[in-house]
Parts: sequence; structure tokens; C-alpha cells
Amino acid sequence: MEIPQGLKLAAQPGYSERVILLTREFEMAAKSSAAAYRPEKMIIRLSSILPIIDADGRPIELPTANAFGVFLHEYFHYIHNVSTSVGLAGFINTLEIWRLLRTTIDENGFSEGHQRLDGAYYEHYRNLYCLFRSIRTVYRPNLKSTGEVTSIEVSSADICDNVQSSEHGVLLSLIKCRAKLEISDGSTEFHDIEVGVQEIMESSAWLLERRYVNSSDPYAADLPVDVFPYKVVSALAKYVLKNPDHDSILACSLAALHSTNPAEALIDILNIAKNAETTGGNAINDVQAAVNRIVEANHAQLIKALEDIEGEFCGDSIMATGVLTITLHARIALELRRQKPLFEIDFVDLLAKDGAALDCIMSKVPACNVLQENAGPIGNMKRDFLVSFRQKSDDNVDPEAGLRVVHAAFDFALRHFSESGFLNTETLSHKSCPFFTTCDLALRKNESDICEKKPWESVDWDGWGNNGRCEYAEAISNTRPPSSS
Ligand SMILES: [Zn+2]
Repeated sequence: MEIPQGLKLAAQPGYSERVILLTREFEMAAKSSAAAYRPEKMIIRLSSILPIIDADGRPIELPTANAFGVFLHEYFHYIHNVSTSVGLAGFINTLEIWRLLRTTIDENGFSEGHQRLDGAYYEHYRNLYCLFRSIRTVYRPNLKSTGEVTSIEVSSADICDNVQSSEHGVLLSLIKCRAKLEISDGSTEFHDIEVGVQEIMESSAWLLERRYVNSSDPYAADLPVDVFPYKVVSALAKYVLKNPDHDSILACSLAALHSTNPAEALIDILNIAKNAETTGGNAINDVQAAVNRIVEANHAQLIKALEDIEGEFCGDSIMATGVLTITLHARIALELRRQKPLFEIDFVDLLAKDGAALDCIMSKVPACNVLQENAGPIGNMKRDFLVSFRQKSDDNVDPEAGLRVVHAAFDFALRHFSESGFLNTETLSHKSCPFFTTCDLALRKNESDICEKKPWESVDWDGWGNNGRCEYAEAISNTRPPSSS
């Protein structure tokens, strides 16, 4: 798969000049599907309504501050994935799921399912499953009305245990809140709602997005977003604090991500801000001091975890290259955090003043791969593009190929991941390769059915010749333990 030659968005002029009009089409569609990032994916997906490059691979200026804000939102998800305690824990857990899947690979090179796990391994699997699911669960109320929630007011908040392990005690907590919800049909409902990792992650990315849009374009209309999950943390902050402003809610939300148990940390941080309010102190200063302490306290442990991973992936395989790219980004961002724990706020403020600063930011912590969707039938060869924010190296090596192999390896592992245990590869439901729409390699041209339904079979295709295999095939090859490959 090729990336557009030498594409470097930030080198293009014009990013600082925002068009003030919000295009109606973008506004309508942005609510649901303009862009997406999932923690295990290491890839940002931009839909065809948010094009950043044209058909020839040339950068396009994003039309509005809101559109650029949506891109930044996804970029900050990646930043949080590689440089916060909860984000790195998510990456480390996904890597562990992949490792565990490897132990179920049989002599045919595919997973035989959970019957290959013994009792002790199965308990480990259950812990990973509960953790994975609760990190990714977004709470949504079961409304009596058919309308949409338009606003939320919290009237109580209690911390409770969510995921426990026999060895480590409480791993994740949840905040349970009583909330009054206003509905679009004019009715009011009362619900017991939950605030967990996803609510805090989404609130953080959305508040950063809003900060950018509001300061770069005072005329920009607010893009409509759902109350759940984006506005729940703000509602909770308004319950705990007397006068929370945007800055203090953002600082509290970002601060919580530096704990491996963000819900518990959020309550602690909000109480620090509340204490500052009641004693006449400066809430933001106190929150920043608390984040400083948390970042410093966790630093050695996070670096040790990265070192362990680097020791494990010390070979020259393409998967090792991808994993080491992630640990390198993590190290750079963790170092930035020691100087400025909430550095993403500075990134946003810099970009709002000068769009060309994107170049500087991407040179510090480059974005992961970006998949730009284009209009047209999904079966069109190479309908979509992969966009890199880093230039190709002199030896013409695609710097993000390794990241895509990691993405494919995690995609393969997570297809097997079910509540009852790993599934047998033979029973997996058919789903296309994540790079199906960007590819025109030999397998895609000659046996498209494999790419569309069972991309893991790419590894055993006999038509690859000497030109190398696709990234999914590389991922499966790296997943197979040495004895079965
Ligand atoms: Zn998001």
C-alpha cells in the first residue's frame, strides 16, 4: 500500500486562514461519522465529508475551524493512547490479548479457540476481557421517550468498583450519578447514569476540539454532539464545583487520564479544584500541580513497561518496527509531559494562533496513519487513501507500514475476542481487511474474496512472488508462534 508521495500537510500554506462559514453538509454529517479513532487501531479514519487530500494526493485546506477541530479531536485520541497512563494501559492490554491469542494457534497456523487455554490462562483472559470491555463501554441511557437528550444536570455522584482482579484489587471504578435529562420532545427524565473511561476520554478530546474552534474562529457555530458521552464530565464538574469554567473542566478531565483508574482520579481531582474554590485558591494551578505529581509518580513505571515491550520486539520484523514506532512516540510524549503535563492545551492554543504550527507539532509527536475515505462504491480498487504526516525516509521506506501491521495484528486478535473465550478462527464472521479500500496489491486484484471476507488467509496465498506480502499477511505471520509458521 502506498502513501501519497512525500505528503506533509503542515508544509502547505493556508491552514491558518480559516473559512468562517460552516458548510451545512459537514455540519449535518459530522455529528455521527466525520472521523473516528479506536484505542486499539492506531489509525484515524476520516470520512469523505472531511477530505484532507484530493484525488492526486495533494493536501486540501480544511474548510472550517470545526472541520479542523474534528481532525484534532482524533489526533488527541492518539496522543492520549500513547502518552497517558490509561491510554498506554489500553495498548499494553491489547498487546497482551494478542500474546495470549498466539498461545491458541494450532499447527495449521490459526487459533483453535479457548479450549487451548488452561484454567490459569483462562482467568487471565477473563480479567483482560472485563478490562477491555469496560474501557470501551460508552454509557447511554435507556430513554422512555423516542427523542434525544438535549441537556443533563447531575444531582449526586458516587464512586463504585467496576473491574477487580484477585491479585490487584480494584482496577477500574465507575462514577454513578443521578441525572435529570431534558429531552428534545420537551419531556424530562431522571436516570442513574455512569461515568467511566470513555466518558472522560471523549470529554477530553471534545473539550480540546471546542477550545481550538472557539479561539481560532469566534464566529464558528457549535457542531451538534450527543450529550452522551461528550458532555457528561462537564455536567459532573458543574455538580461538584460552584463555578467551573471551560479551562478548569478541561484540566480536570485531562488530569484524570493520567491515572490507570480515571473515574476515581476524576473525583479526586474535582475535589482538589473544589477545595481551591472554597479556600480562595487557584483551581487550575492546584489541578496542574496534582497532575505534575501523578505524571512524575507514574513515569518510572511507564518507562519500565515500554522497556519491557522494546526488549520483546527487538528483532527487525515489520511488526517490531511498528511496535517500536509506538514506544518511541510514547517516550517522546511522556518526556513532553514531564515538562508540561497538559501539553495538549498548549498545542491547541498554538494552532489557534497559527495554523502553520501543525508542522512543528507533528514533528514532535506525529499523528498515526490517517485513512482518508473517498466517495464511491466500497469495492472500487484503491478508493481510499492512506495519509502520512511524516515524510518517507531516504531509503523510500514507508514509515507507517509497521504501524499498519500492528493494526492488522490487533484486528486479527480482537476478531477472536468474545465473552466466552477466544473463538476458533474457522468460526469467525466474515469481515474485510481494514485496508481493503486502500489496496491494489496482487491478492486484492486476483482473489478479492479473501481480502473481503477472510483477510487472515492472505498469509497462505501462493501468489505473492518476490514482491512482498500485504500487511495483513505480515501480521498473521508475526502472530504465528515460530513452531507453526
Ligand atoms: Zn472521540
